[in-house]
Amino acid sequence: MKRLFFTLLCAATLVCGPVFAADPAAPTPAPAAEQQETGFWLTEKGGKRHNAKCRFYKKTKGKPCGEKDGQACKVCGG
Ligand SMILES: [Zn+2]
Repeated sequence: MKRLFFTLLCAATLVCGPVFAADPAAPTPAPAAEQQETGFWLTEKGGKRHNAKCRFYKKTKGKPCGEKDGQACKVCGG
């Protein structure tokens, strides 16, 4: 019985070998570009865009955005 188990184990290893051989430490894809630095900040409320020098940059709830997204802040020019 023990020998049969061993034989089955060998067969399973052969069949499933490629699966086990997959590198578990393979690099996972980078997380979504949520924290990407664009130099511009789009506020969630109002849709105002601030540049990195503005005092509101990253201080208000929002997300990074492109230089032409949303409405330019009147203080910093967006
Ligand atoms: Zn601003």
